[in-house]
Parts: sequence; C-alpha cells; structure tokens
Amino acid sequence: MNLKSITALALATLFCAVAAFAADSAKPNIIFILADDIGYGDWGCYGATKVKTPNLDRLAAQGRRFTDAHSPAAVCTPTRYAFMTGEYAWRKPGTGILPGTAALIIEPGRVTVPSLLKQAGYTTGVVGKWHLGLGATSPTDYNGEIKPGPLEIGFDYAWLLPATGDRTPCVWVENHRVVGLDPADPIKLDYTVQRGQPESFVKGIPRIGKQIGGKAALWQDDEIADLLTKKAVAFIEKNKEKPFFLYFATHDIHVPRVPHARFRSTSQAGVRGDVIQEFDWSIGEVMKALDRLKLADNTLLIVTSDNGGVLDTNGPDHVNSGTVETNNGHPQNGVLRGTKGSPYEGGTRVPLIARWPGHVQTGTSGELICHVDMLATAAALTGQKLAAAAGPDSFNVLPALLGEKLDKPCRDHLVEQGSVLALRKGPWKLIPAAPAGKGKKGKGRGPKSAELYNLADDLSETKNVADQHPEIVKEMTALLQSVHEKGRSRP
Ligand code: CA
Repeated sequence: MNLKSITALALATLFCAVAAFAADSAKPNIIFILADDIGYGDWGCYGATKVKTPNLDRLAAQGRRFTDAHSPAAVCTPTRYAFMTGEYAWRKPGTGILPGTAALIIEPGRVTVPSLLKQAGYTTGVVGKWHLGLGATSPTDYNGEIKPGPLEIGFDYAWLLPATGDRTPCVWVENHRVVGLDPADPIKLDYTVQRGQPESFVKGIPRIGKQIGGKAALWQDDEIADLLTKKAVAFIEKNKEKPFFLYFATHDIHVPRVPHARFRSTSQAGVRGDVIQEFDWSIGEVMKALDRLKLADNTLLIVTSDNGGVLDTNGPDHVNSGTVETNNGHPQNGVLRGTKGSPYEGGTRVPLIARWPGHVQTGTSGELICHVDMLATAAALTGQKLAAAAGPDSFNVLPALLGEKLDKPCRDHLVEQGSVLALRKGPWKLIPAAPAGKGKKGKGRGPKSAELYNLADDLSETKNVADQHPEIVKEMTALLQSVHEKGRSRP
C-alpha cells in the first residue's frame, strides 16, 4: 500500500468515526415511564390539589404537557400490547387482562418498540410490570428458564413483575429466571383460587390465584417502588455511554396499594393519594439520575399512564387500597366521565408529559396522540422506515411531541378500547351501542343506543347529541367499521 492509499484509508476511517459519532449524538436516550391506573386528574399539573406531585409538575414546566393523550385501551394488558407492537390490541384475540400463568402474547420476530430501537443501535431495557405473558405455553413454568419473554422480542435486559401486584406469582423475574428461587421449593400456581379465599393470601394480602412454593423469592410489597426505581436508575447508569431505551412500567398505583412507610398518610387523598406521591418520588429519582449523569439534555423522557384512574372497593378480598370514602373528594380523572375500563374519556385519556430540552417545545398541547403511536414515532426519531406490515395502527406523532407547527393533526382519528370500542375524530366522540348481552354487568358496559358527544364544548360527555347529528353518527360508524375491516389504520 502506498502513502496515498494509506492517507485515503485513514481519512475514510476518520470520516466513518465522525459520522458514527454524529449519528449517535443525534439519537437521544428514550425513557418511557408507564404508570399503572393513574388518572387524568391525579397530578398537580393536571389540577390535583390534595395530592402533591412536585417532580411531575417540574417535568411539565420543563417539557410539554398533553391534554388529549390516550392509552390505547382502558385496562393494562391491551394497552401494553398496543404500545409495544403499534397494533390495536382488539385486533388480536387473547390480549385481554392476563393471569400470571399466560404465555407470551407477542410473537418473537415481529417489530416492536424495543426491537426497532435495538436495530438503531440502542441498548434496550424493561423494568417493572410486564403483564404480557411469559413462556411459549400456558401455564408458565417459573422454575426453569422462562422464555420467550422480553428478551425474545427486543429487550437486552429485563427486571419484571410478571403480571400484576394482585396476581401471583409474587416474585421478581430477571431476564430468564425468578430471582432468589430455591429449587427445593418450586413455584406452582392455582388460578382456580379466587381473590379473598384463605389460600389466596400472600404476605397478608389477598391475590388472584394461589401461589404454592417460591417462599424465598417472594417480594416485599412496601418495597416495590424503591426496588423498581433502583433498578431503573441502575440501568441508566450502566448504559450512560451509548443510546439506550428504558421502558419503566411502575407498579404504582395499581392495587394492592401498599406505600412504603415514608409515604403513608402523606397526601390528603388517602392511601391512593399516598402512592401517587410515591410514584412522583420515583420520577424525581429518575430525573436526579439524568442530571447527575449529565444525560438530561440528550434524553427524551415521557411519563404517562396505562389507563384511567379507579377507586378500590371495600371488602374481604381487598386490602385498603383507597375507596370513595377515603379519597376525600380528590377527582382522580378530573372532569372526565368514566374510570378504568370505561369507553368514556376517563377510561383512556391520561396525563402525558414529554421532555427533551432544546427539542421538545415547552408548553401545553391539545394534539390527539396515543401510546400505540410510539412505534412509528420511534422509527421517525431514529430515521428508520417502518415495514409496511409493522405497527398497523401506529402514527408518527413526533411533530406533535416536539411541538412543531402542524398544518393538520398527526392522527385525525383514534379508536378507544373500553368495554366497547369508541371512536374519536375532531371534536366528536362516538360510542356505538353495545351488543346485547355483552359486557360485565354494571362495569362500564356500553350504551343501549349509539351516543355522540362534542368534546369541544362537552368534555365531560354529559349531552348525547346523536339525535341532532345522525349524519356524523353514520360517518363515524362507517369509519370505525372500515378501521376494523382494513386490519390497519395508519397511512
Ligand atoms: Ca392499569
């Protein structure tokens, strides 16, 4: 090799190195924090006064606060499925609320938010509540190598609460194994046992499904928030040198609501308020870590919830997790009608704050966005083209997140999955009639005849104007049907 070609080679190498650096520095870290069952009115920056959320309020002041952001569904599992895959969960049977024995419901190999970001060079991690099933077949065997799971659908690291705090197994799973499991005391689950039956109690708290064995591996309920926050911060620290994606799905504020002693009786809204303040502390710890590691400026931090707020019921099958008697009039879903599970706005309209200093414009946004949009948005953010079959319901809402001036909305309609499927378009909200005999009695069941609301002047959905606007009911019913039939809704 002569001097000329050596010089050319050196220059080419240097160019590649510079290009790689430029590409990396253009890729912000992404942290998506998904609260559980936190409602539209639960944070100070969304109007709460009996619950204090100083960290979230500070985040809102430094970022962009959305007033029309939605979880894809009004309950846990379908929201998480849609967030991960960019596909409405109602398209896929078997994506309802899962037991702790369910197999993984996302097929390995399909494009997911973590697999897409991994493709772009990100290190990907999930810390917290999973609730998307584990293993190839049901019932999940928790005693050996548990897979497929998050590591098979795009995550490099996983620290999981497998289902929910009120469902067995009450153990941690790190990557493929239960943490601290004694092989001489294997785990067996019996989901024929109902919550409240004597055998359903684990550590004094009634759960759904009985857990036999795994005694040494049991979690401590009042330490869940501390532990998950510690794991989330450790992931950030470990990966501070390269772009990372962290999906931090908190247990707060799902039932059983068992705050650490230092948060007990600190709010004016009972134990439910206390765990919101515990959640706010977790956000503060993540923000502190980003400041300490000088990562705040290069991190897109999104904090939101997986469905609307809900109060607990009194009874032998529940610990005190916050009821209408104890919450002291705190409006968990603000002015919205309905709660978790409902097709009204209180079911899926959730708080959402996005912060990326210098990139996300500060302020408030009324743009319609949904967690199902994270896949297409992550693709746009990392300069990737989403394959035609991937994320069939995921719209790129990056311009709305950043606060760019928009000629038209990023998404012009949205299907809200409550006890029935509702549709949003412009100011209109359609709730079609529920099929006769379907839905749980007394729990957010859909209406007998179609309802139409104009949210521009009736955000609380109090005046059904279906009779005054039959043409809009017809048009929206047809759109909902077409979204169904086409199998996709994104451009
Ligand atoms: Ca939830």
